[in-house]
Amino acid sequence: MSDCCTATSLLPFHQALSMLLGSVTCIEKSETLAITDTLGRVLAHDIESTVNVPPHNNSAMDGYAFAYSSMQQAKSFTLVGKSFAGAPFMGKTKFRECIRIMTGAKIPECCDTVVMQENVRLDHDKVWLTKTVKLHDHVRYAGEDIAKGSIVLTKGKRLNAVDIGLLASLGINTIAVYCKLTAAIFSTGDELRQPGDVLKDGDIYESNRFALKAMLARQGLNIIDLGIIRDNKKAIRDAFMHADRQADIVISTGGVSVGEADYNKEVLAELGEINFWKVAMKPGKPFAFGKLPDSVFFGLPGNPVSALVTFHQLAVPGIMKMQGQQAKPRFSIKAKSIDHLKKSPGRMDFQRGILSVDAHGCAVVHSVKSQGSGILSSLRDANCYIVLAQEQGSVDAGDLVTVQPFDHIITQ
Ligand code: AMP
Ligand code: MG
Repeated sequence: MSDCCTATSLLPFHQALSMLLGSVTCIEKSETLAITDTLGRVLAHDIESTVNVPPHNNSAMDGYAFAYSSMQQAKSFTLVGKSFAGAPFMGKTKFRECIRIMTGAKIPECCDTVVMQENVRLDHDKVWLTKTVKLHDHVRYAGEDIAKGSIVLTKGKRLNAVDIGLLASLGINTIAVYCKLTAAIFSTGDELRQPGDVLKDGDIYESNRFALKAMLARQGLNIIDLGIIRDNKKAIRDAFMHADRQADIVISTGGVSVGEADYNKEVLAELGEINFWKVAMKPGKPFAFGKLPDSVFFGLPGNPVSALVTFHQLAVPGIMKMQGQQAKPRFSIKAKSIDHLKKSPGRMDFQRGILSVDAHGCAVVHSVKSQGSGILSSLRDANCYIVLAQEQGSVDAGDLVTVQPFDHIITQ
């Protein structure tokens, strides 16, 4: 066990994140699934297209297809056949001949241009052009969506609805995705009661485990819920051992601040290699991270906002890497702060804000009412983090600040 920070030295947020990312690895096991079952799963291989999409030149309009070169001298064409979606024209047009064609129908090789049906006059089997037509009008080309041989989706992509549509369009019905990780979660604290139970004097309903399970579900993990564990060394040891045996990731909340940390620290020191970090972030600060014999461990603070924000900012990127997901920087923008934001240098703040657009179309951000680490309703009201650098002081109203909109893991 190592204690990398003393009470006075806090580990900068980015350093904590890169140490954490440096010590977790992707669980390489994959499985092959029907594409219908892969929403939210992570691709285990690049997907290269073995076909052109669309597979053949086809018409973007209902109309008439012909060879443009034969139009230069011709005012009218003779209708010699038809090409419908799924029932192509099998013959060949000659000079001054055209075919009836419908949207999506294959354009035969002898034709290169389509005229919309609104721009012709029909007289029995004669088709008269009533408007000027340009070469290649209304032609959709083979491979113009996806060319044969191109990489359509890369390894590590978390699959969404569009990706699944793309796979189907290539004729792919099964693919290899990384196996789901399993996370075991428990909360610690003698004061905690399960929602639905009756509160005794001094008790509180526990919320962290429920919110965290929902965040884990959004990341597509299997979850083992070990409930509330008493502040008791044996109970904590049993919980850690049980969790480690069953899961790839073990998550606990509570009991990582000074004093209470003792049981956790003692037990974890015996079982594995754990770092108790005091991360220079607010909300947050106490955060434990390390390895148990068969799992990776994240020890989150008990205060609800701290638990969710440290999980979101530190544990989620680690879990993404373990799941094989491509790393990508958090999306952020600059917005004008409407409020004065109180801050002392020394920690990186993830203040909760409400991002919106003013009458001029510019991004502006309000601070939520309370920034307390126990005020869970502050997260309900917010839609973004206002990220303030470690050494920065207070922000004046009207200053530009960096804003990270919440993603689907924490809200939405
Ligand atoms: P701890 O980190 O255990 O010292 O807890 C810090 C604060 O967070 C205390 O006020 C606890 O009552 C509260 N807390 C701890 N765990 C939870 C939880 N699972 N849900 C809600 N509040 C909690
Ligand atoms: Mg506690």
